[in-house]
Amino acid sequence: MPAPGTNTEKYIACAALVPDCPFEATAARLPQGQPRYLMGAGTPADLVECVARGIDMFDCVMPTRHARNGQLFTSQGRLNIKNARYADDLSPLDPECGCYTCRRHSRAYLRHLYVAGEMSAAALNTLHNLTFYLDTMRRIRDAIAFRSFETFRQGFVRSLSRLALDS
Ligand SMILES: [Zn+2]
Repeated sequence: MPAPGTNTEKYIACAALVPDCPFEATAARLPQGQPRYLMGAGTPADLVECVARGIDMFDCVMPTRHARNGQLFTSQGRLNIKNARYADDLSPLDPECGCYTCRRHSRAYLRHLYVAGEMSAAALNTLHNLTFYLDTMRRIRDAIAFRSFETFRQGFVRSLSRLALDS
């Protein structure tokens, strides 16, 4: 839903990625100079790639749904907090994240909460994933403002691919 005070008629609803319909071809048909909205995308890397193709706004359940299922996005890649390898891991979920979950709780504790079926696991995991997505979009905006988006894009993809946590 658009923020209060915006003109919803100016928002462009961009069709979801339809098979055999190249994304670039769809985006090229939309009016220039208008905000572009994409529903249902996606991973943090998807956001970066879609911004590179002209998308401005996103709406997706992925960060919250994945959080509730123990799938967490980090600066080092996706992490499955259910894995036994985190049972004794006292490091923060994402050392580069400043959210409450990462500042206060270890991977081991988050895993314990998840395995025990505690509701707080979903809340803490969701807080982190949403923070990660918001930080990603903030970094994208900064890179665009400083005319360094392509460098950011390449570095972002490299950082997610260099460490295979739990794919
Ligand atoms: Zn965090």
